[in-house]
Formats: sequence, C-alpha cells, structure tokens
Amino acid sequence: MSNIIMRDCHIEVDLKTLEENTAKIEKMAGPETMVMAVVKANGYGHGIKEIIPALIRGGASYLGVATLGEALKIREVDKNTPVLILGQTPPEFSSVLVENNIIQTIFSLEQAESLELAAEEADTQATIHIKIDTGLHRLGFPPIESSLEIISRISEMKHLRMEGIFTHLALLNDEENYKQFEIFKEFLNKLSERGIVIPVRHMADSIASVDYPEFRMDMIRTGALIYGMRGFHKGFIDVNQALTLKAKIAQCHIIHPGEGVSYDYTFRAQRESVIATLPIGYADGIPRNLSNVGKVLVKKGDFSREAPIVGLINMDQMMIDVTHIDGIFQNYRDYDIYIYGQDDVISIKEIAKLAGTNKNDILARLSDRIPRIFI
Ligand SMILES: *Cc1c(COP(=O)(O)O)cnc(C)c1O
Repeated sequence: MSNIIMRDCHIEVDLKTLEENTAKIEKMAGPETMVMAVVKANGYGHGIKEIIPALIRGGASYLGVATLGEALKIREVDKNTPVLILGQTPPEFSSVLVENNIIQTIFSLEQAESLELAAEEADTQATIHIKIDTGLHRLGFPPIESSLEIISRISEMKHLRMEGIFTHLALLNDEENYKQFEIFKEFLNKLSERGIVIPVRHMADSIASVDYPEFRMDMIRTGALIYGMRGFHKGFIDVNQALTLKAKIAQCHIIHPGEGVSYDYTFRAQRESVIATLPIGYADGIPRNLSNVGKVLVKKGDFSREAPIVGLINMDQMMIDVTHIDGIFQNYRDYDIYIYGQDDVISIKEIAKLAGTNKNDILARLSDRIPRIFI
C-alpha cells in the first residue's frame, strides 16, 4: 500500500458511508423526488471517479458538476447517468456537450442557439435545464415577461430537449427563502399558461432539502449532505462524515526557549519544546490561516491527545507542538496524526470554524496531490 501512496499523508474515504448517506437522502426525498448527487470540486475533495458507483448504488439518479471538465471526468467511468453542468460552458464547447450526452444549464438565448446548432450538426437532441434567477443574482434568466418569450422560443428549438428548470436559494432566512420559492412557482405558472410544462423542477440544495420539504419538488441537488455535512437547522437527517485526513510525523526537533518555528518565527518556544514536522501543507489543502490557531489529534492505539499547529503553515509542510506527549521524540514514527475526519477526531465543522470558513471550503481545497484510499 505504501508503494501506491508514496507519501506519509493520505485521505481515507469510506465508500460505505457515502452509499448509506445517499440512501438516507433518497429515502427522505420520497418516491416523487429524485436525488442529484453534486460531485463538483472532485466530489468535494473525496475523489470524483471513485465515489460515483457508491452514490449510484445509494440511489442517486443524477450527477451535478460545475464545469465541462468535471463532466468529462465522469464520462470516463460512467457513460449513462445523467450529468448536469450547473455552471456556464463556453459556446465553443457546445459540440463536446452533445457528443458526451451532457446536460447544460441554460440562462441565455445565445447559449441555446449555439447548442441547438451543435445538436443539429450531430443530428441529435441536446438536453437542457433552464435556470431562473429568483434572487441570488448568480446565474439565471430574470423572472420577467421577456424571459418567458425567450424560453418559449428555446422550447421550440427542434434539437433541444427542455427537460428541467431550476433556481438556487440565497439561504438568508425563512422569509427570503419563501420569497424565492414564490417567485419560482409564479414563473412556472406563467410558463404553463403559455403551454410550456417542464418535467423536472428543482431548487433545493442540501440545507433546503432538509429544512423545507415543500422545496423538494421533482429533484433535490445535494452536495454537502452526501458527504455527511450537517448544515441544516430545522429538519434532521442522520448523515455521517466519510473522509479522514491523516499524516505521519516526518521529523521531531527539540528546541530551546526563545527559538522560533517556521518562516518569520511567528511562534517562539516558551519552554524546551518538542516540535514535530508533518509532510502536508497549504498546497495540499490545509488552510494557511490555521497557522498558530489550528490543532491536530495525535494517536497511538488507545492514546489520543490534541496538539497545536505552531508557526506558519508552509506549502508542503507544517509543524505541531508535541512537548506534552511523553516519549514521542524517540518513537515518533509510531504515531498517527489525524488532521480531521470521522468519529472521535477533530471534525470538519470545527476545522472550518477555526479557519474562519465553511465546511465545503475545507473539503473543496483538498488537492489531487494527496493520495486517496477508498475503503
Ligand atoms: C454546489 C451546488 C449545489 C450543492 O450545494 P450543497 O450546499 O453542497 O448541497 C446545489 N445546486 C447548485 C446550483 C450548486 O452550485
């Protein structure tokens, strides 16, 4: 195994937990609502290609990504599952969408025309989902009369199949969420008055799909929830974290009071100290602002103690203070360092809080450079 991973740090991904999470979400969604597993950013750092079979076994019937590159990665391992690109694809790649049977989000007439042309040239139909901007002001047609006109024109394009329509919430509070829901429903009504009925309507991400059952509609788009991130407030679902980030100590140093650690000596020892170097840094996805703020868990058998991150985190390495752990200097190779993960180790939620960001950001940072082991 060490031949494969070649580094003293790795990510363990628990495929069984991912499958169970997806199955719980599918059950929550009920028979009327499909589950899209969102796997952008390398499956929230877990490893997009390797996790897909588990998500599909768990009951996901769609996959969601942000970019064409991510969609093509899925197509290397899965030719059939519907894949929706939630973001923009430059028009010059319309033919790539068509060739690979990838569903594109549409929010302008120009996009639709370009895709219609590519599908016509290939003598086929391209599948699209229309995006409506109900308040986030990120992507989508504004919910106004002229958009009804444009969508109506798109619906008449012979080589496009208008399968879905969706919006995305800002998630500020109840009042704003319901406001967006009402805007979306009203727009759907106006479309249907024009005889345009689009079968797959969706708006709920992870948080909304748990907290607002009425927002689930025909499909929910769950990312965070699949990976066991419990960001919901009102509802509940028993999903669990599936990822653990581990390392071994590369070297141990004994330093004297007043001596510094790492660039700029932002940490100076108050006492004679044992400082351990870990072979993992910000290029691997450790947030640099955990420097002198974060902590890790040092484990050996039943023994388990926290140790603070000291000094600035570097691109490839970081240091921890293990002075309080007896005997570690002599036997440092015997210890496993848990940076964050499943069960009783430091949670992704806690790390996100210490780093001043959210859980998805912590996961999405995890670099391809870290070997992944799938269990
Ligand atoms: C990323 C994304 C999601 C998934 O969000 P989570 O909060 O991780 O569930 C859903 N929909 C869209 C449009 C997204 O961009």
